[in-house]
Amino acid sequence: INSKLPQVGTTIFTVIGELANKHHAINLGQGFPDFSAPQGLLDRVDFHIQQGHNQYAPMAGVTSLREAIATKIRQRYDRHVSFDLEVTVTPGATEAIYCAITACISPGDEVIVFDPAYDSYEPAIELSGGRAIHLPLLPPEFKIDWQRVKDAINPKTRMIILNSPHNPTGATLSAEDLATLAALVSDTDILLLSDEVYEHLVFDGETHQSLLLHDELAARAFVIFSFGKTYHVTGWKTGYCIAPATLTAEFRKVHQYVTFVAVTPIQLALADFMRDCPEHYQQLPAFYQNKRDLFCEQMVGSRFQFTPAAGTFFQLMDYSEISSLDDRAMAEWLTREKGVAAIPVSVFYKEPPETKYVRFCFAKEDETLIKAAELLCRI
Ligand code: PMP
Ligand code: GLN
Repeated sequence: INSKLPQVGTTIFTVIGELANKHHAINLGQGFPDFSAPQGLLDRVDFHIQQGHNQYAPMAGVTSLREAIATKIRQRYDRHVSFDLEVTVTPGATEAIYCAITACISPGDEVIVFDPAYDSYEPAIELSGGRAIHLPLLPPEFKIDWQRVKDAINPKTRMIILNSPHNPTGATLSAEDLATLAALVSDTDILLLSDEVYEHLVFDGETHQSLLLHDELAARAFVIFSFGKTYHVTGWKTGYCIAPATLTAEFRKVHQYVTFVAVTPIQLALADFMRDCPEHYQQLPAFYQNKRDLFCEQMVGSRFQFTPAAGTFFQLMDYSEISSLDDRAMAEWLTREKGVAAIPVSVFYKEPPETKYVRFCFAKEDETLIKAAELLCRI
């Protein structure tokens, strides 16, 4: 068969996950919590299943969930969105990313992505016949070089993909970044895709700079979120996309034929829980900041070097004082020989730089983090 994605192999998350299982390593690789979702949320899923809410939901999502999302967006980002015309619930942020790209990108279009970039963006661009233009985020701060963005923009540029807080670096966009972006795109028809799945995981008293805070940016953006990260349920694969009505209409044309709907009882349970327990996400920054701090404190005695992540549940660690292995070999060695699984950062690049970073996920019980750090400090 003539592969449409000849470069694509098995994702690193699967490769490292399987290696971790095989060697009984502590899995700080793929990003998922090892603790449970709130009991009240689990109970609501059970309730709705028992009530017989087990058939197809409306294509755009269960109404009560879209209303709860619109309320949250109003309270958190001071933006009024129509639950009917501007909110679509999807089976995970991944599907939302795919639908937004597929709905807008045609053969020959260029899409600007910033490397390291989450792995699902480029295949979606390629399947639409588009071309990803990779611009680097420069370590150690992994900031966007806006002059390079300006230089890269041309009449073929159809979309810019942003991700803040950023996987895998933990970097966040600032209000100035958004103002600069707004000035750059103001006289163009460039669309924006803003992957904000870690919206609640911003630390040290900073606030999340959503594109929804900014009128001009929100007017041309698909802003994508995931319940998986916010409610510790990555396996539920439920997320949503906020976009102006004209963009949402195109988005839904794709969504209705890719999956049609997300899972009904899960949506109903999330709607109940969002309404009844807004404290859950208000507590999240402190909850995850404590985990970041614990992991970082425990790692001070190691030979890894790091700057604590500004957001997400990922911590990059520079291992250049420990080994000259490339990062994939290093991640495999850590998993196989040292009992702690990590993700190599080069897999998020088109052209990996010389830097030596691995990514650890700290969405884990405190005791898991302490045990993992203990093993890593012995290296
Ligand atoms: N974007 C980023 C940056 C992510 O880290 C993830 C992680 N899973 C996703 C999108 C996908 O989210 P979901 O599991 O809801 O599809
Ligand atoms: N977003 C998760 C991570 O970065 C992985 C999701 C996946 O396995 N596709 O670890």
